[in-house]
Amino acid sequence: MTNSHQQSRNLSAYRGHIVSPIDGSRLNDIRDGLLVVDENGQIVFVGAESEFDKDAANLQDKIIRRLDFGKRLIMPGMVDTHLHLPQVTATGKSGEHLMNWLQRFIFPSEIRCRDAVYARKIAKWFFDEMACNGTTTGVVMTTVHKEATDIAFQIASERGLRVIMGKMMMNANAPPELTEELSASLSASHELCQKWHGADGGRLMYAFTPRFAPTSTSELLKECGKLWQESKGSYLHTHLAESQDEIDFVKGQYPSARSYVDVYHSFGLLGKNSVMAHSIHLDEQDIKLLRETDSSLAHCPSSNFFLKSGVFQYNRILKSGIRFGLGSDVAAGPQMSLFCVMKDANYMQPHDWLGPEELLYRATLGGARALALEARIGSLDAGKEADFIVVDPRRRTGIISDILDRSIDEILSALVFLGDDRIIDATFVRGRQLFSRENQESELVTA
Ligand SMILES: [Zn+2]
Repeated sequence: MTNSHQQSRNLSAYRGHIVSPIDGSRLNDIRDGLLVVDENGQIVFVGAESEFDKDAANLQDKIIRRLDFGKRLIMPGMVDTHLHLPQVTATGKSGEHLMNWLQRFIFPSEIRCRDAVYARKIAKWFFDEMACNGTTTGVVMTTVHKEATDIAFQIASERGLRVIMGKMMMNANAPPELTEELSASLSASHELCQKWHGADGGRLMYAFTPRFAPTSTSELLKECGKLWQESKGSYLHTHLAESQDEIDFVKGQYPSARSYVDVYHSFGLLGKNSVMAHSIHLDEQDIKLLRETDSSLAHCPSSNFFLKSGVFQYNRILKSGIRFGLGSDVAAGPQMSLFCVMKDANYMQPHDWLGPEELLYRATLGGARALALEARIGSLDAGKEADFIVVDPRRRTGIISDILDRSIDEILSALVFLGDDRIIDATFVRGRQLFSRENQESELVTA
């Protein structure tokens, strides 16, 4: 189909059924396809194997490794636009709405990250979980602890995941162990951004991360907005309008503000590279403002289901043109698999049917667009970085054994409505393999 970088040496070729989104209703569907990746992890060819043999003969002798995945699917890696590293130990803690759930389960799990040994253990677990769930990019909140966040970046760097990550900022209405001095919060965030934003050839990126308005003073939001805007190319990551009790709290903090969105806007927290998790309870003016500022949203249906936070206005947001992706929101979302999140996105809507193609797009290229990373990741195209997964729906019970011989519509439907972590056979980021389910059989190496 396409190829680039004719001068590349030492290529790896992956043969399989390539499925990669173009937009919410179209995708590339190439059986007996070939994905060819150079030693820098850049895709140099995607297309039919026969086409490669015919048109790219000049690349043939540069292939030093060839893996055949047969009928299995080769797809872009999942892009999770919102999740919490320290909460990986706190999934499935039931029985509360947001504000009580935070107090009862989440703050205690975050306090533990002041211990560097624990923080390292949890970070390793978290990034391994990402890899085996097929999630290649994550927009990650850590805790208020600078050292634990630094450790998390080190582990992400070693493990090879792609992250937009940041130290949580909190200076009000939180347990004393998690409440910072404003100046310390700002300087720690600034230093971490200086150290990590753009590291590993741009694979690691920094997000300034005020948890949300309730745990911030107005000074923190204002200074954070300034710092983010001064730190070119960095991200802003926070929660917005998730639950009614949270919104009531913000109303008490800012009685003269028109809405929660306006509070963030007044402190300069909206704009490109600003990722707002949840954003459920929005009115027409809020949506207009988010669109005008080119802010993006992380829709987290599993979490919204779990905490009974409300229903994301999916089609309204879609029509508005606001960029948005899907997020697992672990731990309020009980599992990291974006296949489960896709299914929940459909289940969550009481009236509208969201099709598998739209959902798959949203978990990959749509998420990449929400993060302004679509030139680098989100789909399998020559010139992009090789973040991809190998998927075998037959690993899951209840899926017919000849599913991979069926139509693409049947395959996509099985993936979205029956898929979970078990269907992931291998995960690659920038051409490096981070996870393999079956080392011996396929002679693949886990990095
Ligand atoms: Zn969250």
